[in-house]
Amino acid sequence: MKTIGIIGGMSWESSVQYYTIINRAVRDRIGPMHSAKILMHSLDFAPLAALQKAGEWDELAEIMADSAQALEAGGADCVLIATNTMHKLADDVEASCDLPLIHIADATADAVCAEGITRVALLGTAFTMEQPFYRERLEEHHGLDVIVPEADDRAEIHRVIYEELISGQILEQSREAYREIIARLVAQGAQGVILGCTEIGLLINQADSDVPVFDTTEIHALAAVEFALS
Ligand code: GLU
Repeated sequence: MKTIGIIGGMSWESSVQYYTIINRAVRDRIGPMHSAKILMHSLDFAPLAALQKAGEWDELAEIMADSAQALEAGGADCVLIATNTMHKLADDVEASCDLPLIHIADATADAVCAEGITRVALLGTAFTMEQPFYRERLEEHHGLDVIVPEADDRAEIHRVIYEELISGQILEQSREAYREIIARLVAQGAQGVILGCTEIGLLINQADSDVPVFDTTEIHALAAVEFALS
C-alpha cells in the first residue's frame, strides 16, 4: 500500500472527513483490520484565510510548496491538497516536489462524466466559483458546461463556508438557503451539482437536491485510496 500525503487543515473540519473516508474505504477494500497509510501536514487556517482575502497568493504558494516538500521528505507517495480553493496553487505544488498530485477537479470531473452529465453547477468559495482556475479545468480538460449561482447566491455560499462551516457550525437556515440555490441552478438546466468546497458536504447531501450531488471531499479521498491500493 502506498502512503497518501495530505496538505490539510483547510479546514480541519474537512480534513477529518478525508481521514475517515480514506480509512473506511481501505478497510472495506482490503479487510477489517486494515487502515490507510496517511501522512497529513495540517496547517493553521486563520493566517491562510487572511492571505487569501488579501490576495497574497505568492506567499500562499510558498506555504503550500513547503508543505508538499515536508510530505515528500516524510515518505508520502502522492500529494492531495485537501481543499478546492487552494487548487489555485496546484501548479506550484506540483512544481515544488516530485510527488504526483491527485487533482480534486479532475477526480470530480471524472465522476460527473461517468454519470453522463454534461451541464453541472459549481458551488464553492467565491475564489472557486469566480476565478478561472477551477471552472476552466472542468470545461477545458473535461468538456463540461459549468454554471455558477448568481452574485447574491455566491456571496451567501461563500459567507456560510467561512463564517459557519469552517468552524463546525451546521445551521438549518443555511441548509435551506443552499437548497434554494441548488433548486435555482437546476431550473437553469444543471443536471448535477458539484459541492466544490470540502466543507459543503457537512451541510448538504443527496437528499437536498433533485439532481445528483458530487461531494468533492468524498470523491477526492476515494481517488487517493484508488492510488494507494493500485
Ligand atoms: N475547504 C474549502 C474549499 O474546498 C475552503 C477553504 C479554503 O479556502 O481552502 O475550497
